[in-house]
Amino acid sequence: MAKLKILKNSDPTLRKKCRKVDEITKRTLTLLDDMLETMRHANGVGLAGPQVGVLRRIVVIEVEPDEVLELINPEIIEQSGSQTGYEGCLSLPGRTGIVTRPDYVKVKALDRSGTERVYEGTGLLARCFCHEIGHLDGILYPDVADRMLTDEEYEEYMESDD
Ligand code: ZN
Repeated sequence: MAKLKILKNSDPTLRKKCRKVDEITKRTLTLLDDMLETMRHANGVGLAGPQVGVLRRIVVIEVEPDEVLELINPEIIEQSGSQTGYEGCLSLPGRTGIVTRPDYVKVKALDRSGTERVYEGTGLLARCFCHEIGHLDGILYPDVADRMLTDEEYEEYMESDD
């Protein structure tokens, strides 16, 4: 496995719409492995293709330790409820926003064997599905945030985090 470079801030690749994966190849599987390693190394809970410069509809998520979700061509097929909470992004370091998302999300995606699977998430996982799938269409969370924290609020938030 190899650690990949995470694109940041105003990198134009983060704003592009990704294409579907037509065929799962050995390269796709290597990418999934590398994305997981990269995300873990950066202490993230989700990572999408464009964040590592790959304009393909691929996402890895690990909200619960060792419960890794690998999503190829993910689509939100159902959502309900609402939650408002803090959100950050490995591509936008040093910032946090307050974002309202659905509290329940159902996602359809292919797994690494090409089998279609359906995942349901509430709370953080639902938030993560929305955030990561947004990346595949060039959407970053500040675009949909209720508001961004001020520098002062951000510092307080970071201190209260541990
Ligand atoms: Zn992100």
